[in-house]
Amino acid sequence: MAIFKIDQCPVCSNSQFKPFITCTDFFVSEEQFEIGECTGCGFKFTANAEDEENIGRYYQSEEYISHSNTSKGLVNAVYHQVRSYMLGRKRRLVEKATGLKTGRLLDVGTGTGFFLNEMKTHGWKVSGTEKSADARDFAKNEFGLDIEETEQLFQFKNESFDAITLWHVLEHIHRLDENMETFGRLLKPEGKLIIAVPNHTSHDARHYKQYWAAWDVPRHLWHFGPEQMKLFGEKHGFQLQSLHTMPFDSFYVSLLSEKYKKSNLPMFKGLMHGKISWLKSILHKGQCSSVIYVFG
Ligand SMILES: [Zn+2]
Repeated sequence: MAIFKIDQCPVCSNSQFKPFITCTDFFVSEEQFEIGECTGCGFKFTANAEDEENIGRYYQSEEYISHSNTSKGLVNAVYHQVRSYMLGRKRRLVEKATGLKTGRLLDVGTGTGFFLNEMKTHGWKVSGTEKSADARDFAKNEFGLDIEETEQLFQFKNESFDAITLWHVLEHIHRLDENMETFGRLLKPEGKLIIAVPNHTSHDARHYKQYWAAWDVPRHLWHFGPEQMKLFGEKHGFQLQSLHTMPFDSFYVSLLSEKYKKSNLPMFKGLMHGKISWLKSILHKGQCSSVIYVFG
């Protein structure tokens, strides 16, 4: 075991932190983790997560849905229904952001390959990286996709992609700055970086506090709000061009949070708070449970 120690805020380089909240890993270990806050910019991070070599054991759950394809349980069933809708929406977003109908795409942390397959089916030349060997095997068997190991990211040619996407992946990456720097190098001059992450400034995050499912400690190392994401992009030479909502995440995360909270009427309450989060995000995109950031 070795703690992944954070000495400097990745967003503003400040080194003064204060405790923000203590959360439980409801998903795998039931262990508790501290979330710290930068006193300079308000950026939040999991303060006592394991380092890159040792965090693997916190991913060992059959239920970890981004890496599996089971439809057990109601929450998972809803998730799988929604996924097929979201695949099309993500594709259209990439096409709109890049202004291209086909091009070269890199999906970082591609999981089981559903999104890459959607893009490939629509004529895109696709590359992907993924840490989990099981997920890479799944993508190969199911879609015939050759997904690369994580370290291959640093071997791609400069200026070779029209778009790089990270769907709920950036928050898992230990070497945050090194990765962002690499994305900048790998993108063509007009290329777009598209990052989706949970948003702790959302209604559901504020409502569920330590039970908010998208803290997902210790797997989520970094917790971005819209302001910090904008600044973090700028630090690496990107300009934030647009924000987009992920409405289903409001519902999914609220339902899962009710489950973690062991509340009465979890379905009713989860759908209610999901709906509030979604309605608020119609007026203010930066208040959605998860936000998609398009950088140019
Ligand atoms: Zn900071």
